[in-house]
Amino acid sequence: TTVMNAYNELASEGLIEGHVGRGTLVKRTYLARELDDEPFEQHMPSWLFSLSAEEELALGHDARLMSEITALGDQQEVISLAAATPAAGLLPAELLREIVQDDLLTARQSALGYCPVEGLQSLRRGIAERMRKHGVPVDFQHILVLSGSTQGIGLVGRFLLHPGDEVVVEVPTYLGAIQTFRALGARVIGVPIDNEGMRLDLLEAILARRSPRLIYTLPTFQNPTGVIMSPARRRRLLALARRYQVPILEDDPYGEIYFEGEAPQPLKALDTRGDVLYLSTYSKLLAPGLRVAWLAAPEPLIERLSLHKQIFDLNTTALGQWLVSEILQRQMLDPHLARVRQQYQRQRDVMFQAIQEYWPAGTRVTLPRGGFHLWCRLPGDMRARTLLREAAQEGVAFVLGEPFHIDGGGRQYIRLSYAVSDEVQIREGIRRIGLAMRRIQSR
Ligand code: PMP
Repeated sequence: TTVMNAYNELASEGLIEGHVGRGTLVKRTYLARELDDEPFEQHMPSWLFSLSAEEELALGHDARLMSEITALGDQQEVISLAAATPAAGLLPAELLREIVQDDLLTARQSALGYCPVEGLQSLRRGIAERMRKHGVPVDFQHILVLSGSTQGIGLVGRFLLHPGDEVVVEVPTYLGAIQTFRALGARVIGVPIDNEGMRLDLLEAILARRSPRLIYTLPTFQNPTGVIMSPARRRRLLALARRYQVPILEDDPYGEIYFEGEAPQPLKALDTRGDVLYLSTYSKLLAPGLRVAWLAAPEPLIERLSLHKQIFDLNTTALGQWLVSEILQRQMLDPHLARVRQQYQRQRDVMFQAIQEYWPAGTRVTLPRGGFHLWCRLPGDMRARTLLREAAQEGVAFVLGEPFHIDGGGRQYIRLSYAVSDEVQIREGIRRIGLAMRRIQSR
């Protein structure tokens, strides 16, 4: 408090200034400011300064990582193996252009107006129909359209978790969810996963001793590990949720990006009692820029969450919803998915092969049956942070394993996305990381 007061006093006297993301700096003199050659630089008022310190604490030190990963996409010179986003060539620009050209003029009101907070009727119906095909018996009233599944994690978290409440997550798990739960003041408890998914013996021990309010899981092509939860565990997880009366938030952005056999069924398909809140998104299937995702859940919950959602954005972008709805109605999604699945599989194989070819022995890497990521353990005692620094000099980016762990683990792990770059870039990116690895090993 003393330090904060001192900072506030210096700020109010105009001697220092805080910059979001850059820290606090001694201000230039008044004389220099008169000659200011950066007229758009804003000075930070002291009330904002003290708020931002609290906010920083609430968000945690990994808060900036997500925006840094996504910003990489804009840097042409860097080969990004970081973001979980479709490569430019796999974004459905042609489909969208066709739809806009054919129908935007006649569909102005649905595409460019406000719409019901729950989402466009046509889209909710289309989503429900698709979910029924995957074995989940829902209708449109069980669907809430969301501005990204990020919004869904936030809404469910806000609704179910009060500060101090506990939420169970897998270790490792999607770092965006960890951040959201922590920002809501929840205590995040970890359950390790193995090659069959969440360790349910450990989950049961937690459920028996404590009272978490939510279990967050990624049963299909888990982010970051690519693991798929076995059928036996899925059934047992549902039984545990029922016995201890804890809802499950199933986050499933990658279920439809599978490379072998039939589409894996969601956990929700086995849920006969409404314990599973199912979240998915068009960010990976079509384009993250559409910002269209959805939650499938019991109707009373959809009604309640709609009220929360309305406070934040009135409705998800109608334009994005209309475009997705048209894609579904025109039966364009399945052919698109067939094409991108094949391409992702090729990219996965190119990445896997290149790792065998260019990386030193001792690296362990998964070969996932779907999703966007390879999960790698670095050889020997090599640290992921050291490698990230070296790889940056080679102009390649990937994601550290550490922020996916709530327990400080994962220091020797990295996540590589094979979705975001093309085959040539992937090979070159892996080759350059190999160079960086050998440089570290030779020191
Ligand atoms: N959940 C998981 C597991 C993800 O991997 C992502 C995107 N990386 C999201 C949620 C967020 O996706 P969006 O908000 O674009 O729907």
